[in-house]
Amino acid sequence: MTSSPGPGESADRGIPVTARTKVAAVVGAPVRHSLSPAMHNAAFGAAGLDWVFVAFETGDGAGVVAAARTLGLAGLAVTAPHKAAVAASVDEVDPAAAALASVNTVCVRSDGSTFGASTDGAGFVASLRAAGVDPSGARFAVLGAGGAARSIIDALGRGGVGEILVINRTPERGRAAAALAPQARCGTESEIERVDVVVNATSVGMGSSQLPCNASLLGPEHVVVDIVYEPLETALLAAARRAGARVIDGLGMLAHQAALQQELWTGRRADPVTMRLAAEAELARRHR
Ligand code: NAP
Repeated sequence: MTSSPGPGESADRGIPVTARTKVAAVVGAPVRHSLSPAMHNAAFGAAGLDWVFVAFETGDGAGVVAAARTLGLAGLAVTAPHKAAVAASVDEVDPAAAALASVNTVCVRSDGSTFGASTDGAGFVASLRAAGVDPSGARFAVLGAGGAARSIIDALGRGGVGEILVINRTPERGRAAAALAPQARCGTESEIERVDVVVNATSVGMGSSQLPCNASLLGPEHVVVDIVYEPLETALLAAARRAGARVIDGLGMLAHQAALQQELWTGRRADPVTMRLAAEAELARRHR
């Protein structure tokens, strides 16, 4: 017996791939674990758009924009370790992406010129709002100061939040990240008790049961967001749930930043719910 195709598989399109089909791709190294093809193909299919999305694993970050232009790709999703190299090689960069020196989305225009943007931070804020959390005036603790944390701090700063405490293992990187937003400063773990939203933007908990902070500091007054999504229920989210906190998992940010990418490429709103379901189905398929 054969199983029916899941989201992102060929039957989703309903229209044939032809020589006119637009192609977008994720570029990075490694990239074979990426959920982007499942999410983007599902949303292209749901919208009836004649686009396909593939993955290219490459170590040549500086060369990918020229390659996209040469091959006539319509868009790129950029992942580690190429976000900075791509920010330096597009023709035009969105101001938020320029401030971060990080581009996760490239649009190749019909005249061959390229535009780079970063949807990570805006996707994070959109995922909060979709979960019913209004960031305006709220106090945040952001654990981490790497690429993802920096985009989140920048977007929260632009989004009118009350306060952002940046808590990072390496203080110097923490200070640099805190400089991205006027409401941000470096904080200590014990200060978690007095914030509204705790965000794990470190890689701690990815593929492990490690905690990025002392879970006894969490309580029912907190919203706890973990941007790590493998496993989907991280040790932090499980501990936060036990402490009575409200939890938001990492697929929210992933789906919302992908929906914003698709909007930049096609000019049409994409459905983050379709994308999330496709990502969940892909994760479930991998763990079958
Ligand atoms: P990154 O640039 O490498 O930054 C990693 C961060 O984690 C740094 O702040 C680092 O601290 C901290 N860290 C790493 N190991 C640690 C440890 N053992 N103890 C304490 N801190 C530690 O990575 P990134 O690109 O920001 O990504 C971070 C995580 O977010 C990854 O798991 C990634 O998969 C996930 N992510 C999710 C989404 C989403 O849409 N859900 C989007 C982007 C990234 P130091 O500065 O001290 O090294």
